Amino acid sequence: MAKRDYYEVLGVPKDASESDIKKAYRKAAMKYHPDKFANSSEAEKKDAEDKFKEINEAYEILSDPQKKAAYDQYGHAAFEAGGPGGAGGFGGFGQGGGFGGFDFGDVDLGDIFGDFFGGGRSRRSQEPKVHQGSDLRYNLELTLEEVAFGVEKEIKYKRNGKCHTCHGSGAEPGHSMKTCDKCNGSGHIRTQQRSIFGIQTVMHECDQCHGTGKIPEKACSTCRGTGVEKEVVTRKIKIPAGVETGQGLIVRDGGDAGKNDGVYGDLRVFFIVKEHEIFKRNGNDIYCEVPIGMTTAVLGGEVEVPTIDGKSKIKIPEGTQNGKVFRLREKGINHSGRRGSEIITIKVETPTNLTDKQKKILEEFDESLGKKNYKESHSFMEKIKKFFKKFDN
Ligand code: ZN
Repeated sequence: MAKRDYYEVLGVPKDASESDIKKAYRKAAMKYHPDKFANSSEAEKKDAEDKFKEINEAYEILSDPQKKAAYDQYGHAAFEAGGPGGAGGFGGFGQGGGFGGFDFGDVDLGDIFGDFFGGGRSRRSQEPKVHQGSDLRYNLELTLEEVAFGVEKEIKYKRNGKCHTCHGSGAEPGHSMKTCDKCNGSGHIRTQQRSIFGIQTVMHECDQCHGTGKIPEKACSTCRGTGVEKEVVTRKIKIPAGVETGQGLIVRDGGDAGKNDGVYGDLRVFFIVKEHEIFKRNGNDIYCEVPIGMTTAVLGGEVEVPTIDGKSKIKIPEGTQNGKVFRLREKGINHSGRRGSEIITIKVETPTNLTDKQKKILEEFDESLGKKNYKESHSFMEKIKKFFKKFDN
């Protein structure tokens, strides 16, 4: 089944503000929350469940500026394997542990509205914790040529990976994990506090297992039981044609590994398109200023011009004026299979450093010129003559 547009799912316009998106999400999530369908028929339950998943998926993307930008640019393809990110786990929010593995146990009204009602207690907080690694940022410089056609780049960066000795568990090889004896595996410790409302039970993350509920029988000597160590990773990144500075891609699980056998964060790759020596870019069009000699402008001729594909030629007609624009179709940036144009602006160069002989030739030549050779100048002269007449009286 085709995926619905995320904006449509939340019922907001494309230019909705962050707070509008949040409001719409809350409203929709409240309406379809599984808790509300506990006594409904199976079909109704299933329908609400699907809608709830869809709403959460839409919100996860639209509430995150980077993911939203990717979605605005590429639609659902931004988060599919083989999409703009290409293979390699790129932006694959839809796969594996992402939305596919969405579990209602993870979200309840307390989670969604927690900040609204002043910190509702979510079910999840009573379960052992899985540490989430940090998202990382990578600024990727691209040349205009790379952007014009799309490119595959290999990037190399440092991150916290899973420890190579214990593979993330934090236990010395040959030793297994055991239930944390301090919290009995819950990851939390309850303490009782006296307050004006009476005795309140407060939960804290267990400081021995850091909320995971498990500790190694013997801590790994490489990572001292954290389960992570620094590593250098290389990733191949497929960049679609037509991207711009400020856009980017998300490499799922490309970030730091979470401690204590946690999950990976994402790598956010930001594109920076470098300035080009010859070309300027505007959208999918490429602009280039080409100087030509005065004589070529007068007599006409063929001029070689640079394009992003290589050399090309344009015909300069006789009597070409400074600033004349030529459009070379299909020589611009490729974007979704369609190419923009290259816009060439002719700059007629006035020769300098003339010899006396050259100046004399020009003067003789100029004397031979008349009205019909300088149409624009003459018509302008006529206009200003008329204009100044007003001041004569
Ligand atoms: Zn280790």
